[in-house]
Amino acid sequence: MAAEVLTNIPLTSLPKISQGKVRDLFSLPDGDKPTLLFVTSDRISAYDVILKNGIPSKGVILTLLSAKWFEVLSSRVPGLKHHFLHLGPPSSPGLVTEDEKKMLRGRSMTVRRLKIFPIEAIVRGYVTGSAWAEYEKTQTIHGLAEPAGLRRCERLPEPIYTPSTKAELGDKDINISPNEARKIVGDKYASRIEELALACYKAGAAYAEERGIIIADTKFEFGLDEETDEIYLVDEVLTPDSSRFWSKADYQVGRDQDSFDKQVLRNWLTDNGLKGKPDVEMPPEVVEKTKARYTEVFELLTGNSLDEALNNLA
Ligand code: ATP
Ligand code: MG
Repeated sequence: MAAEVLTNIPLTSLPKISQGKVRDLFSLPDGDKPTLLFVTSDRISAYDVILKNGIPSKGVILTLLSAKWFEVLSSRVPGLKHHFLHLGPPSSPGLVTEDEKKMLRGRSMTVRRLKIFPIEAIVRGYVTGSAWAEYEKTQTIHGLAEPAGLRRCERLPEPIYTPSTKAELGDKDINISPNEARKIVGDKYASRIEELALACYKAGAAYAEERGIIIADTKFEFGLDEETDEIYLVDEVLTPDSSRFWSKADYQVGRDQDSFDKQVLRNWLTDNGLKGKPDVEMPPEVVEKTKARYTEVFELLTGNSLDEALNNLA
């Protein structure tokens, strides 16, 4: 297994298109359709700030878990199109160096390059986080009326689509109503995005629940193939970074739940007055415990150990 922690992706053979909190996107030579290399680093963010050091193997865990979800969702959501083409870069000789190829193993995927809709397609199955804060005040979630008497972290009668704006790096996403999202993406696409987001959440949540994990809520992104006018599921999918995962065994309504993945880090940050501060370095025990949580979630959801999954790669 790649023991190195990669907070920066050492890839110079391909032009870099952009860098997000966790991923670096690289341009690939034109084929039939525009594609890009989607590379996930070991960077981790909490309370919207990127930590100075990373979590070993996190990029591999998120990439292989997303790949698994593309496979699962394809078979469970009728008509779903997604951006995933294959793991790793295209095999064309000389495209990347041998060292780069090794570095990219398990943490990169070739995807269709699409025009991203500028909203976060959030779906919630449970009332928590910013949705709970709003509900407590006004009995609404993203402006939608909800039944009276819901308790903290209670399961909603039906999953709901609660989009947000997609802020630029450093800015905060703002919760909006489905109607406001409709104005942003346009009437033509709004209903289909909502329908796909709900269908992907329902299929994913059912799959996870059989494996002991509650997906309380999650964020999807969608993109448009402007040539065919078709909507694609893009980005990472149903990972601990894009979702709130809770342990089904520990779940209790009426109180906050520990999140499966980042709780150790969040607790350490708040206990030490470091919440939201830049350039914070995690101590080894926080890194180790966080890595263990990400690994556990990967193993529960895929049924494979991380080593097995890496060994299964071509
Ligand atoms: P964001 O809030 O934009 O997701 P981020 O910091 O989480 O910010 P990363 O996850 O690090 O971003 O980077 C992934 C970026 O790649 C996102 O901006 C996402 O919209 C974009 N993206 C995902 N899939 C595609 C695709 N198929 N084509 C083009 N861009 C994509
Ligand atoms: Mg992202």
